[in-house]
Amino acid sequence: MNRRDFLKNSITVIAGLAVPLSALELISPRKLLAQKGDESPVRWAFLVDTQACVGCGFCVKACKTENEIPHETNITRTWVERYVVTRKGKTYVDSPRGARDGFTTDRIDQGEEGYREVKAKDVEKAFFVPKLCNQCDNPACVQVCPVGATYQTPDGVVLVDRKHCIGCAYCIMACPYGVRSFNPAYKTAEKCTFCYHRISKGMKTACVDACPFGARKIGNLRDPDDPVTKTIMSGRVGVLKEQYGTKPQVYYLALSREVK
Ligand code: SF4
Ligand code: SF4
Repeated sequence: MNRRDFLKNSITVIAGLAVPLSALELISPRKLLAQKGDESPVRWAFLVDTQACVGCGFCVKACKTENEIPHETNITRTWVERYVVTRKGKTYVDSPRGARDGFTTDRIDQGEEGYREVKAKDVEKAFFVPKLCNQCDNPACVQVCPVGATYQTPDGVVLVDRKHCIGCAYCIMACPYGVRSFNPAYKTAEKCTFCYHRISKGMKTACVDACPFGARKIGNLRDPDDPVTKTIMSGRVGVLKEQYGTKPQVYYLALSREVK
């Protein structure tokens, strides 16, 4: 099953989940902070600038190295999607090997359907969208874990405790973003942790450090002087699948309506 099929299946699953009505509010970083009070001086949030991303894949490689995810497998904690929108309104998306090696050809990888060529004159717009765990404030994955192995830290990062994870995959099915996978080496759920081992020591995530174009940034929503916080609070940002009420904490600048 490829990531797109998985995503489609996940959407079906999430549609059947009981999402509390209170969760179905539109995202508001200001409201979120107010609700959370002063529980923690830090609330991590991520900012992606889709206009700055060139699809080089350096971030994907750096993540794999940092988090010991074998380079040759299709398991990846973060990936980059290429969107090609034609003048006739068709949207094609690909992410060969999660863009680990960047996008080296104009041909769009359509999986079992093969490659698609779109002539330059037929392209309305094309852009790249990095994806990763949204470290949701109302995480569906945490709600469904039967053994509490998936949990949320006080500073807002969702983690998997490999010692307790039983590999049931409920969280993989519940995540509406398709960001979780199964790690066959550990037989546990696998996902982005915002490089928690690094950020809790004052470092940036590996992908943020690796991006030569500043397309990825991480910041503390509780610090009003943090440039990431300032951008997020400016209201010029969007989030993915807001309608599921998961309250994602990965914000996108210049998010096109075609992005799913
Ligand atoms: S994006 Fe998915 S895995 Fe990450 S916190 Fe949200 S529901 Fe959980
Ligand atoms: S390293 Fe930066 S520019 Fe390159 S693919 Fe990742 S986010 Fe995009």
